[in-house]
Amino acid sequence: MARRCADLCQFVDESLYLPGADLWLDASRPRPRAFVSHAHTDHLGLSPDGGSHALVLCTPETGRLIAALMPYGAPVPPIEALPLHHTIQCGGVRLTALPSGHILGGAMLLVESHRGRLLFAGDVRLSGSVTCPPAETVEADHLIIEDTFGALHASFAPASDGARRVLEFCRDAQDRGQTPVLVTTSNCGKAQDMVAALSAAGLRVGLQPKLFRCTEAYRELGVPLTGYAKVRLSDRGGGVRCDEVDCILVTCGFLDYNPDLDHHVDNPSMALVSGWAADDEAHHFDAAIPWSDHASREDLHEFVRRVNPSLVWTFAGEGALARELRAMGVKARHLGSL
Ligand SMILES: [Zn+2]
Repeated sequence: MARRCADLCQFVDESLYLPGADLWLDASRPRPRAFVSHAHTDHLGLSPDGGSHALVLCTPETGRLIAALMPYGAPVPPIEALPLHHTIQCGGVRLTALPSGHILGGAMLLVESHRGRLLFAGDVRLSGSVTCPPAETVEADHLIIEDTFGALHASFAPASDGARRVLEFCRDAQDRGQTPVLVTTSNCGKAQDMVAALSAAGLRVGLQPKLFRCTEAYRELGVPLTGYAKVRLSDRGGGVRCDEVDCILVTCGFLDYNPDLDHHVDNPSMALVSGWAADDEAHHFDAAIPWSDHASREDLHEFVRRVNPSLVWTFAGEGALARELRAMGVKARHLGSL
């Protein structure tokens, strides 16, 4: 049953839906037409067999990155491009894409009608990074925002400190005669920030195949990345040998499907580079660097203060952000996981 949310939006079958535009927002399963805020796989609405939305509304950058991310053999969904800062009229509402600061192409969606203004923020990061512009906040009557790290009390490393710690980790591992392996959670975003930092320091980075495809897409989209190559990490596929690069970058998902990394990498030393490294998620790794492309808890509070909504709806996470906002006198409700 549909639950009304933020006047202009409904929460239906664990997904957000704009009835005025007949549009789903970061829907968790394939829908006829959906806005995809950014190219992280948990926002693409893919079904287990690789099925996707019949039509995706997103920025051109996100459309290109989705093409790089699709599972092998799965068709790329048709894209309806909505560039950042552009506005379209859609049914009874106006839709504007604004930079979210999360990853390249990441967008918030401002929904306007005679009933007010709703900002669907998704994942945000106030600062942006070397590969994406900062979040551009606007005031809105209602705000829908992710609570991914709302319960996390430890802070993330600022990007410059995160890059410094990644470089230190790599240099220390090399000094010990080990191969530094950096493990991140997503194929797009902080991975390319790391490639930029490592190559600027003169290190050649070996990437797993999907990370390589996404990094090539970043370069095609105008991000000047250099100093990386696809590296051979399994008996299948091509790429340079591990001893031809200075460090290796893979995702947690890649490790899950390729647990025999030790057979291909000489004496690896592994660091988790993720917001989750600020928690206790890193005990299987040799090092933990809490560098994230998400807003920290403090930044989420600051983001809400800037949007200045009369009501906040949170989703994902455990509802900690909504509880904290209520304690601060901000009207807030948690919708649950998408
Ligand atoms: Zn994300």
